[in-house]
Amino acid sequence: MNKAKALLLIADGVGDRPIKALGGKTPLEAAVKPNLDKLASESECGIMDPIAAGIRAGSDTSHLALLGYDPYKYYTGRGPFEAAGIGMDVRKGDIAFRCNFSTVDENMVITDRRAGRITSGTDQLAAAVNGMKIDGVEVIFKESVAHRGALILRAAGLSAAITDTDPHHEGFGVLTSEAIDPADAASAKTAKAINEFVHQSYKILKNHPVNKDRIAQGLNPANIILPRGGGIGPNIESFESEHGLKAACVAETGLINGVARYVGMDITVVPGATGGLDSNLMNMAKAIIEQLQTHDFILCNVKGADLGGHDNNPQAKIDTIMKLDEMVGYLMANVPAKTYIALTADHSTPCELLDHSGDPVPIVIWGDDVRVDKCERFDERSVTAGGLGRIRGIDVVNILTQLMNTQEKFGA
Ligand code: ZN
Ligand code: ZN
Repeated sequence: MNKAKALLLIADGVGDRPIKALGGKTPLEAAVKPNLDKLASESECGIMDPIAAGIRAGSDTSHLALLGYDPYKYYTGRGPFEAAGIGMDVRKGDIAFRCNFSTVDENMVITDRRAGRITSGTDQLAAAVNGMKIDGVEVIFKESVAHRGALILRAAGLSAAITDTDPHHEGFGVLTSEAIDPADAASAKTAKAINEFVHQSYKILKNHPVNKDRIAQGLNPANIILPRGGGIGPNIESFESEHGLKAACVAETGLINGVARYVGMDITVVPGATGGLDSNLMNMAKAIIEQLQTHDFILCNVKGADLGGHDNNPQAKIDTIMKLDEMVGYLMANVPAKTYIALTADHSTPCELLDHSGDPVPIVIWGDDVRVDKCERFDERSVTAGGLGRIRGIDVVNILTQLMNTQEKFGA
């Protein structure tokens, strides 16, 4: 008998509210999507609160919950997840920050928080500051896209309970980080290290050849690095050790890959998977089928619908749903025998709100022996009559592993 497998397919931000321009329909209700509706009609359906009823979820916290990890316990700030998302090795106890390359004048007043939205040379600037030691604290720095980067401070006895050096506005001076509780030695040590790092970054970068070139071209130099959003690397068990399932992630964005990397999933690079509206979802579908040959559990995130929500562009959302429809048709026809497909969203991103809301999202679970119900469409309202009722994101992996017969019994 084939071993059961599962695909958790997340249409990022696809949930919405009724939109006047669509005659009171949501983008899911307005889109023509025969495969998604076929999937729903052959599934057990319901609605899901990604974190809990009424909670506005971020993509990172929601994906943690959807993978079975309580985000209130494991989410320690954006820093560690951003750092993991760009491929940095974040360890338990590390303090990780998101960073900007910025421009300061000689009085350490910020003149450009994004250093002219620098697009090249940040790898050389990063190499110039990476690897330094500050009072026994190891400094690991890596550039990300454009003016962004991430910083890890590594030593025993550090804490993320410190204030930012980034004043978050131009025209203000760089701040001195302080321990939130001055009596806490770990926070004091971390604040001291971060202040020294910021100071050193200015000393090293102000005369760096990349910046001399930029000044010669009339561009703002990236002459300082400002960390923010610090968090401590959480003590987290891998998905495989929690569930006994070898897992891979097929995603387009660093943030989702960061969450997946955190829980020990294999990361897949898919050609043409851009994270934009032009993304090649059929290549993602083919990557999923390939990964299912060697893995028991696949997490896939398709980003496009969320972008349509943030831009108040219902048509972009509908277009993504129709591409997703083609993808799901291919997956239903090609997944190995005994594969369960759970299709849902990580949160709603209502177009008229331009951001994530706490509205629940549709979820359908498809595969051998599921209790198929009477729902025939994949949208926010049709699924509410289904057999799953209203569940939370953290329930999803349990529902899948019990269908897969891979779950241990609780009790005798
Ligand atoms: Zn999201
Ligand atoms: Zn979003």
